[in-house]
Amino acid sequence: MKDQQSTLRETMKRQGLTRDAFAEHLGVSRRALDSWLLPATSGEFRRMPGVVAKLVGGMPAGTEPRAAGELRLRFTRKGKPHLLSVDQFDRDTVEELLQVAEAMEPIARRRKVTRVLEGAVLANLFFEPSTRTRVSFGAAFCRLGGSVCDTTGFTFSSMVKGESIADTSRVVSGYVDAIVVRHPDKGSVAEFARHTHLPVINGGDGTGEHPTQALLDLYTIRREFERLGKTIDGATVAMVGDLRHGRTVHSLIRLLSLFKRINFRLVAPRSLEMPPELVEAAKAAGHKVVQVATLAEGLRDVDVLYATRIQKERMSGEALEAYPADFRIDRRVLGSLCRPDTVVMHPLPRDGTPGANDLSTDLDADPRLAIFRQTDNGIPVRMAIFAVLLGVEHLVARDLRDAPWIAPARLGPGDAPFHRLA
Ligand code: ASP
Repeated sequence: MKDQQSTLRETMKRQGLTRDAFAEHLGVSRRALDSWLLPATSGEFRRMPGVVAKLVGGMPAGTEPRAAGELRLRFTRKGKPHLLSVDQFDRDTVEELLQVAEAMEPIARRRKVTRVLEGAVLANLFFEPSTRTRVSFGAAFCRLGGSVCDTTGFTFSSMVKGESIADTSRVVSGYVDAIVVRHPDKGSVAEFARHTHLPVINGGDGTGEHPTQALLDLYTIRREFERLGKTIDGATVAMVGDLRHGRTVHSLIRLLSLFKRINFRLVAPRSLEMPPELVEAAKAAGHKVVQVATLAEGLRDVDVLYATRIQKERMSGEALEAYPADFRIDRRVLGSLCRPDTVVMHPLPRDGTPGANDLSTDLDADPRLAIFRQTDNGIPVRMAIFAVLLGVEHLVARDLRDAPWIAPARLGPGDAPFHRLA
């Protein structure tokens, strides 16, 4: 069997990572990595923990880096570099995109700086409310060295004067290099994309899809599972709440269906169930799908609990009143139904008003709650999307400098130092 030092060296070489970048990638300190690379006879030598060995063992073996732009060609359609739906991916392309996201971690963690998109401009067009998606798309573009122009709401755009999506799309294309669009109508972002050759990314189209959220959700599940020694194939994933209107779960069920033998538990009140065509598609892809209407029936022994907000803005008062009061996910629910290693996620925002039927703040100190690791993951994943769509992903590793400013080791009061393992 190969010794630990050779395994680590070969993996680093294969991935084209420096020691610093490799330590970042593994979520360990540079000192820990150095100690694992020392000769076994050295007094400072340490054995790497089992969980890290597993992570290293699971890193892709591909020795040949793919040609620049090749991944983009494989998941975009008709020669247009758009990201509109998770249906564009197969398992290989999604795994490769997530690898590009991993390579962005040192930048996302403020250790490194790159300027590969210097001079490029992003239009961030949000015709529906947004905090996370809008800011993280903008920050991701800036962290690659680009600049961002934002518009928010219809009120401040010419659409309020009756301008069509087609005209808006063509006009904005003359100003920028990539476009993110969020719009309240299903299919509207695809319509926007039909009128431009620039990369268009769907930032959420009504009740349709939210593909980049699903990609960062998948990235989060993968990272959490690596830490817990689990695989996505064979996992039990509960999606809870307003599954009818929630576009994040519409994208996530499709994306997870690229994996094998998933046990989906869809927990929703009768009027807010997952659209039947998505349930049928998951079943046709060989997964088990159980639809239930109470937390007690759906949450026992799940690997992932993905809670969602009731999408009030997409419902009439009547439907809202029918929403049952017992969909609150709190300490009591987790304590009685879930496991010590259940990963708790939510696309956010959650309704934080006392007594709200959503993910409770009484879980905030519970390490199973992955919601802020999930939001943090929006940066490397969205950086990867831009880098791939604009054809610069192969340049990033060669264009890294140390970040000169002082960044905090932990982001929030309850965080481990940047999600480290050791
Ligand atoms: N932020 C997510 C979305 O835009 C989830 C939500 O709003 O509930 O779809």
